[in-house]
Amino acid sequence: MHILVTNDDGVTAPGLLALVIEMRKLGEVSVLAPDHNWSAAGHVKTLHRPLRAKPVTLADGSPALASDGAPSDCVALALMGVIEQPVDLVVSGINPNANIGHDITYSGTVTAAMEAVINGVPGVAVSLDAPEHNRGALDYSAAAAAARKVIETLIKHPFERDILLNVNVPYLPENEIKGFRPTRQGMRIYRDELIRREDPRGKPYYWIGGEAPTGVDESGTDFGALKAGFVSIAPIHLDMTAYKVLEEIQSWKWPE
Ligand code: MN
Repeated sequence: MHILVTNDDGVTAPGLLALVIEMRKLGEVSVLAPDHNWSAAGHVKTLHRPLRAKPVTLADGSPALASDGAPSDCVALALMGVIEQPVDLVVSGINPNANIGHDITYSGTVTAAMEAVINGVPGVAVSLDAPEHNRGALDYSAAAAAARKVIETLIKHPFERDILLNVNVPYLPENEIKGFRPTRQGMRIYRDELIRREDPRGKPYYWIGGEAPTGVDESGTDFGALKAGFVSIAPIHLDMTAYKVLEEIQSWKWPE
């Protein structure tokens, strides 16, 4: 198996290396990741400037490629031929913070896995639910091991190619993680606040600030599983059609 590993935090992020080391136990690993942090950059396709992919060395001395494109660009570049050997699976992460509920279209981590699915390759996004604004170094070992176990399970089963798995791991030592739970997308509660300041010339500028988001703690959801100490595995569709609403509006009288 040939696994492409990417992320949205940049090729030097420790979460990427932790994932790479664990994925090597499953097959051959190639890395093509952004050259800087693209967190919350969403699903991007760069069409109006050229993209580069330059050889770099990870902290363990292994080779990788770093691109000036977004996470989704990195996946597209790799699958379209920048990496010559065919890719069987794309794994993105490990993001330091959870990607649940409405986070998924903001998330570079998840949209990289979406890009894999668009290109006909299964995608897995892996995020760690570490406290926001954590100052020290994070321990990614439990999340990396959890990611490997999820993928070991995945490759034993037939899997629809147009689905990605959005994996979130509680920030707990490996022996305190309670297990693995298939989940549905839950509800995020954003606590964004508009911060308005003035620049030295008296012109206003804005920051989107506020506290870290929380969520609705409901059983069966990604957020609920994390709060209960389980690894959340949410299968995600790129088909965003609201099927119930479609049925309903089909019965409306529309202009001829
Ligand atoms: Mn990130």
